[in-house]
Amino acid sequence: MKIAMIGTGYVGLVSGVCFSDFGHEVVCVDKDAGKIARLESGEVPIFEPGLDALLATNTASGRLSFTTDLARAVDGAEAVFIAVGTPSRRGDGHADLSYVMAAAEEVARAATGPVVIVTKSTVPVGTNREVARTVRAANPALDFDVASNPEFLREGAAIDDFMRPDRVIVGVETDRAAEVMADVYRPLFLRDFPIVTTDLESAEMIKYAANAFLATKITFINEIAALCEKTGADVREVAKGIGLDGRIGNKFLHAGPGFGGSCFPKDTRALARIGQEYAQPMTITETVIAVNEAVKKRMIDKCLDLLDGSFNGKRVAVLGVTFKPNTDDMREAPSLTLVPALIGGGAEVVAVDPEGRREGETLLPRVVWDADPYSAAEDADLIVILTEWNAFRALDLDRIATGMASPRMADLRNVYSADVARVAGFEAYMGVGRPGFG
Ligand code: NAD
Repeated sequence: MKIAMIGTGYVGLVSGVCFSDFGHEVVCVDKDAGKIARLESGEVPIFEPGLDALLATNTASGRLSFTTDLARAVDGAEAVFIAVGTPSRRGDGHADLSYVMAAAEEVARAATGPVVIVTKSTVPVGTNREVARTVRAANPALDFDVASNPEFLREGAAIDDFMRPDRVIVGVETDRAAEVMADVYRPLFLRDFPIVTTDLESAEMIKYAANAFLATKITFINEIAALCEKTGADVREVAKGIGLDGRIGNKFLHAGPGFGGSCFPKDTRALARIGQEYAQPMTITETVIAVNEAVKKRMIDKCLDLLDGSFNGKRVAVLGVTFKPNTDDMREAPSLTLVPALIGGGAEVVAVDPEGRREGETLLPRVVWDADPYSAAEDADLIVILTEWNAFRALDLDRIATGMASPRMADLRNVYSADVARVAGFEAYMGVGRPGFG
């Protein structure tokens, strides 16, 4: 089967590579010529574990290719996936659909049909019908169907998530679209991964409901963490105690510095906005957004407390700037709130991140970059663990403490504990939702 993938970002590239690994013939398109040039030379423009090897295998097999020429990619394709960005529209939080609609129009002009135009991007309810209207207006003679196929992969584990999904959601209106989508996903179907075929509106809503639910779960435990700090309870014990209840589950119960990333912040804002448009307030989601902002600010206060109320003239080592480990993605990362607050307050910030430096250099000006946590912590007044990369999980804390000017730690991912920090020679330690000292 021939597939065209429009957009080679975190979702489009992973999906395109994995579809080719299923045995389909896939042409990936991006209008970013630099990205396509790198992909054509075998280079992966993002950091995603395992993607380079899979890309190399499938390019070598001849099933996977890259182009900036959308018309060439779409020509003869039975399914065309739109996997372009849907960032928050400035000002009102609505998902910006301009990239999706522009892609739909280009596809309409280039396609010969019959073709299924599949929206993989996260889009508000009603967008697939809007895509259909756009395509019809641009090319009234085209024989096409639309399908909604939201993506649930997680950056950092994207290939495994794509190859072994909890479920695949497919929204369709016609049998023909359902058949094409079944062909696309047949390799997963044969391995018994559930494929939920539903209507367009439900498929679109499932994606937002899923992300808002997960963001709510994280925010709930973050709020419980704040109360734990006041009451002397340990949020890790609480999370374990509630997570063993099968109705609750133990995932997404790690207290931390607030959620960030390319999806949860913008998708919760978009859901709240959809609610406003339909005069059906999404009160829980709106509260989650507000609480998450408060959580991020609380992390600044934590650092301030550890530095006796002032950042001025202090040296702070920040370990991790990406929004989570195993990705180079910094979209809406907690570091983008904390680091400017530290620098704005007069601190010198030295940052270390295994993959975040390239983006970080643009997004976090005035940061000094280091490749090594030990030299970054040298002479520092505070060390902040902001992203729980494996490289930061087993540090020699005695060595870190010895080199620091005043050994204090803000462990915003609860990687260590007060006891471990005390034994290593730290004079102050704060985690999130757990007892600290100093
Ligand atoms: P991204 O910003 O990394 O990539 C989008 C790509 O599309 C860019 O390379 C851009 O150049 C390209 N593009 C835009 N318009 C184009 C056009 N007309 N023709 C060709 N290329 C075009 O975005 P992403 O993170 O991959 O997200 C894509 C969508 O998937 C979003 O709706 C997002 O919400 C959703 N999603 C993302 C994730 C994730 O973890 N990143 C997970 C699930 C769903």
